[in-house]
Amino acid sequence: MSDMTRRDMLQSAAILAAAGMLPATAKAGDNKKLKILIAGAHPDDPESSSGGTMALYADAGHEVVALYLTRGEAGIRGKSHEEAAKIRSAEAEASCKILGARPVFLTQIDGATEINTGRYDEAWKVIKDERPDILITHWPIDSHRDHRVISMLMYDAWLHAKKKFELFYFEVEAGQQTQHFAPTHYVDITTTEDRKRKACYAHPSQDAEKGFYVLHDEMNRFRGQEAGVDHAEAFIRHSQSSRGLL
Ligand SMILES: [Zn+2]
Repeated sequence: MSDMTRRDMLQSAAILAAAGMLPATAKAGDNKKLKILIAGAHPDDPESSSGGTMALYADAGHEVVALYLTRGEAGIRGKSHEEAAKIRSAEAEASCKILGARPVFLTQIDGATEINTGRYDEAWKVIKDERPDILITHWPIDSHRDHRVISMLMYDAWLHAKKKFELFYFEVEAGQQTQHFAPTHYVDITTTEDRKRKACYAHPSQDAEKGFYVLHDEMNRFRGQEAGVDHAEAFIRHSQSSRGLL
């Protein structure tokens, strides 16, 4: 396939159409309005991994939810957990506004996340209540323990739901945090990269501009090269995901 044909295909396919999840020209008005839920461990994980895709879905009229396992309690040096949680929750809310998403918070504590039957139940309850058509969460092989925890909790909820929605995995700080990530799907985020950047910059407590966004910008350019576009986000689709929604 030539580069041009490939690029045309990616642009027209827009979102995750290649996955067979969404018709290429889909707008919520023409087809079923979908709910896409992006589950991250900390404020900034959904945005930095999938912000361009979130904006594309929101712009097409679909419902986008950012689920945060914690409020980033341990993420600001010199601040108490309570102070950091307040600051970082507000940053997540501002960030979601830029992307057209609705934030939802679970009740775990940054740096001290856990997996037990109570936590499985809590995660299942939110998925049962939200009923997403598409769930995207951390790839489980990751150097950050909290990332591994939300990945396991979401995988368990997907099994509990009898795999009746699409399960995808995203990457964050590839190589340093997410590891052994071999994408199955790419989303061209060239038209929404500026909003992704703004949404990440809406986390000033995390020094996005000089810190984590630099890494994600490199990652998105590299994935873009793989996909034949300027900027792309990459995902792994679980092969047993239900396609019942189409
Ligand atoms: Zn994180």
